Amino acid sequence: MFPAPFQYHRAGSVKEALALLKRYGDDAKLLAGGHSLIPMLKLRLIQPQHVVDIARLTELTQISEQRGKVIVGAASTHDEVASSEIIKNKLGLLAQCAAAIGDVQVRNRGTIGGSLSHSDPAADYPAAVLALEGDITLENEAGSRMVKAEDFFVDLMTTAAKAGEILTQVSFAPTPGNSGFAYLKHRQPASGFAIVGVAVLVTLGRRGNCDRVRVGITGLGPKPFRASAVEDVLVGKKAEDEAIAAAASHAADGVDTLSDIHAAADFRAELARVYTRRALASAIANTNH
Ligand code: FAD
Repeated sequence: MFPAPFQYHRAGSVKEALALLKRYGDDAKLLAGGHSLIPMLKLRLIQPQHVVDIARLTELTQISEQRGKVIVGAASTHDEVASSEIIKNKLGLLAQCAAAIGDVQVRNRGTIGGSLSHSDPAADYPAAVLALEGDITLENEAGSRMVKAEDFFVDLMTTAAKAGEILTQVSFAPTPGNSGFAYLKHRQPASGFAIVGVAVLVTLGRRGNCDRVRVGITGLGPKPFRASAVEDVLVGKKAEDEAIAAAASHAADGVDTLSDIHAAADFRAELARVYTRRALASAIANTNH
């Protein structure tokens, strides 16, 4: 299968990429790792006249700490995120999630910005970015704006990004002390995509109570979401099996559950409850006291 013909542009900077997006409007598409875009081009689901490559822009591949935040450039590959010492030390949940994406080839090319922008309902990153309360920076020629992860995912493969904007970075507060995390998913056996994926970050208080609970779920509905029903039940409770199970039982509450050849809606909802219970238990068990 071959894509329809298009003109390839390799942008030398974000500024140049933004100018190309402005010039070609709806006829242009950004290319990062290409692991979602190229299949869509080959299937001719989209037929842009211009493809603007941003994968090699060093200004988009930096992973750094700035003013108490961890900044992850949009063109950082899944492998760079999984193996970055800064991310492993400060945002273990993100590193664990990145390492669970696809296979080696996918992790070597796919990027965090591409994954979040594409917003596949079965993508892994959104669960972790939601649980970590990431801030997503979108840039256009007029300037930049920051969107909270919770407001970024709007619907099936639809985000808050507007035409002509580039996702340039995601920033996070480092994981607080006395916290544990886990990303667990039920994998689609061929691709590794999450039929359901659950990211959990739990901070324990001095008496072993759950002071802060963050749960992001992907794969269950048309868009990833913060499972606030689960969080609310567990906050303030002792981190014990009964409380964990009670909280996890709310994982699919109010979700318009997806149903496809991989998993029917009821099964998906049950997977969400089971994986939420396991991820909560695992996060609590690995808390760094
Ligand atoms: P691209 O394919 O280059 O772009 C995707 C879309 O995002 C395009 O519309 C593009 O225009 C837009 N875009 C890219 N970068 C930006 C930006 N900075 N700002 C604005 N828009 C942008 N994903 C998982 O989560 N879990 C898996 O287990 C998994 N398994 C996979 C297995 C296979 C065989 C393949 C081919 C893919 C798999 N993926 C999986 C998807 C993979 O993670 C992709 O890399 C990711 O979804 C898209 O990132 P990309 O950098 O390749 O983006």
